[in-house]
Amino acid sequence: MPYGYNGKILRVDLNSESISIEEPQEILYSRYLGGGTLALYYLLRELKPKSDPLGPENILVFAGSVISGTPAAGLSRFSVAAKSPETGGFGEAEAGGWWIPELKFAGFDAIVIKGKANRPVYLWVHDGQAEIRDAGHLWGKFPKETQDEIRRELGDDRIRIALIGPAGEKLAKVACIINELKHANGRTGLGAVMGSKNLKAIAVRGKKRMEVADGEAVQRLSKRLKDTYEEPYFSVGNLGTSRVTTMFSEQGILPTLNFRKGSFEGAEAIGGETMSKTILVRRGTCYGCFVRCKREVQVGEPYFVDPIYGGPEYETVAAFGSMCGIDDLKAISKANQLCNAYGLDTISTGSLISFAMECYEKGVLTKRDTDGLELQFGNTEAMIKMVEKIGNREGLGDILAEGICHAAKKFGKGAENFAIHVKGMPVPFHEPRGKVGVGLGYAVSATGPDHMEFPHDPWWATEAGVTLLRPLGIFEPLDVFDIGPKKVRIFIYLQQYWDLLNTLGICMFTAKPFGPQTFNGIVDYVKAVTGWETSLFDLLKVAERHTHMARIFNLREGFTAQDDTLPDRFFQPMEGGTLKGKKIDREEFARALEAYYEMLGWDTETGVPKKGKLAELDLDWLT
Ligand code: SF4
Repeated sequence: MPYGYNGKILRVDLNSESISIEEPQEILYSRYLGGGTLALYYLLRELKPKSDPLGPENILVFAGSVISGTPAAGLSRFSVAAKSPETGGFGEAEAGGWWIPELKFAGFDAIVIKGKANRPVYLWVHDGQAEIRDAGHLWGKFPKETQDEIRRELGDDRIRIALIGPAGEKLAKVACIINELKHANGRTGLGAVMGSKNLKAIAVRGKKRMEVADGEAVQRLSKRLKDTYEEPYFSVGNLGTSRVTTMFSEQGILPTLNFRKGSFEGAEAIGGETMSKTILVRRGTCYGCFVRCKREVQVGEPYFVDPIYGGPEYETVAAFGSMCGIDDLKAISKANQLCNAYGLDTISTGSLISFAMECYEKGVLTKRDTDGLELQFGNTEAMIKMVEKIGNREGLGDILAEGICHAAKKFGKGAENFAIHVKGMPVPFHEPRGKVGVGLGYAVSATGPDHMEFPHDPWWATEAGVTLLRPLGIFEPLDVFDIGPKKVRIFIYLQQYWDLLNTLGICMFTAKPFGPQTFNGIVDYVKAVTGWETSLFDLLKVAERHTHMARIFNLREGFTAQDDTLPDRFFQPMEGGTLKGKKIDREEFARALEAYYEMLGWDTETGVPKKGKLAELDLDWLT
């Protein structure tokens, strides 16, 4: 009997509207654990290379892990994965909330969806069963109405629902999937994949509780986690993730005006402290988590913002704040609500608007192109209007909704110089010129730039930070601007550790170096839940599998080493802020990439994993 997981994968074919249940052997779970790694197993086996990401052949996977739904804090996260319509490569996005524990309680570890329904539908998964239901009456509706209607129809207010908004239905390549109206699988455009399948929502509910191998140890380890949590661990609970806004601005690493500057005069007005003192009405949370870092904000005037849609996280604050030159927290909260209502990724949406603002400033776009909007940096009304236009795919918003590369090409006149992206996806709001390891992370990530795939350089820059990382064999602090081989080595270890957190669905704020969960604590917990005799070595090998499988996925799609790069802007001096004049050295960066390939056992010129390395990871089926 499996412990911690159900041993059941729900398979849905929307072409024929048929449902089946797969019962994989234990080795599938121990080798891939869950999340994006398990999803990659299905994508690499069953999705033909060069498939249309918005065609019925694309495969959409929702996956928890072998420990999701067990009691420890921070186990709320899950991955959605498919071929990305935003990048054309591997698409993966994680979210928290309550959805994945509920799927586990409903009897399934993951859902693998193929095909396209010939009418709008939603999936209802409950107590070991699933059915496909008509969603004609829900198509076009916003998430709140959709959620209310499904709960009313099924007669249960505790049903958890992951769904798309109008942007996903209209196949916007920056559309997200959202659960509980505020927890987003934000990046890589997976909302559009769901829309392309005519799948409006997946509703889940179950009464089962997960059996674990050693209940006493699971309780003890969960309690230890809570007892060792000290608030603030970097004050994330009290002030939310946007607590860093002012600090980043002072350090010169707050992306401002489309990554031209690193400091923003209005940083304090939009940061976590101001939010807590003004519009915050509640600290929100995820399944079983005592950190409570989520924000719920309310605004009456001049915009109506409802706390049911949550509140802006740091990325959203930077997206619609410093990136657009806006120091109005109420307006940023409105933009956040609109993104959650339309089902838009706040990072890509804010970045697209900032990009369009720079195009407007440089004369690439005029009022004729913007439907009369004065799209200058700092224009709050124009920023809000643009979010709606992208969500509705109207006018300029329609062009932007196709993604940043498409828009830059369409605008012409040098617009590509202002499109700050890697592999077609806009860069999140962590300035690589002030923490160069982050730049390496952006360049090599298979999903396009993702700030959640590794801890950032400041954590390894001090003795205190490095002490927390000793179990990984990291002993020496390194400067944030360093990008030599020692930095690359540490980056690889931490990238793999982060891959493990994402694969297991552990929230990074609850684990080292940010939170109380230790490296060996994770191992003890996996052992206690599953009953497996595992180790940190074994678990990190799973994470290494993730890195390699994602790489192989992209190579099959035609990506090459040339795609592992950064936008030119990061090789040019910053125009303002504390780090004015700082840039990344191109040659040093190229050497770092080569070292990265070499250390991973990849061909140093092509970035292709060598056969021996794949065999060492038990991935010879990919050669
Ligand atoms: S730390 Fe925050 S994001 Fe992470 S699980 Fe807890 S409440 Fe959710």
